[in-house]
Amino acid sequence: MVKKGMLIVLSGPSGVGKGTVRKEIFSQEGNNFDYSISMTTRKMREGEVNGRDYHFVSKEEFEEEIATGGMLEYAKYVDNYYGTPLKYVNEMLENGKDVFLEIEVSGAMQVREKCPDGLFIFLTPPDLMELRQRIINRGTDDLETIDKRMKKAVDEIEMMQNYDYAVVNDQVVNAAEKIKTIIRAERWRVKRF
Ligand code: 5GP
Repeated sequence: MVKKGMLIVLSGPSGVGKGTVRKEIFSQEGNNFDYSISMTTRKMREGEVNGRDYHFVSKEEFEEEIATGGMLEYAKYVDNYYGTPLKYVNEMLENGKDVFLEIEVSGAMQVREKCPDGLFIFLTPPDLMELRQRIINRGTDDLETIDKRMKKAVDEIEMMQNYDYAVVNDQVVNAAEKIKTIIRAERWRVKRF
């Protein structure tokens, strides 16, 4: 039997802290899974590195990837494309390695359709007002963008029921630890369904 890896999907509303929790997880030693670097058309933020944080590409390049079937999933989010290149994920899984995606919810639902036996973890904010404050405090978005993100967040929280696990992001270190515990437990599971 070919041993295949596990696809791990961390998702949740924008501003909930998925990226921070993911970075916390990957800052630690001893993880037996690799991060799939997403592709995006959004502008690089200060401190970001092409090929580490994202593969930053033009709209044309992204649309070419979509047209040639190169994306496992993608979403247009606040006027930019974000997506998971299929090739890397396939290679890892075929080699029996576990792959970790950190993506927004519509992308996660596309992955769920294609890979129903993946592990789907939803990161939730302690409450919505705190989420709004976090988005504002981040200081990278204008008010119109904040409202767009908020409306989307309310819809996304309703999506939680489509996931295997929900983890509250009260503190980054706690959330990261819980996610790692879930991943470890899934490896020991005898049967998934
Ligand atoms: P940001 O612009 O703050 O880096 O990311 C915006 C949103 O896009 C976040 O919710 C992030 O999780 C999501 N995102 C990042 N990469 C991907 C991806 O490959 N696919 C999808 N669907 N969403 C992604």
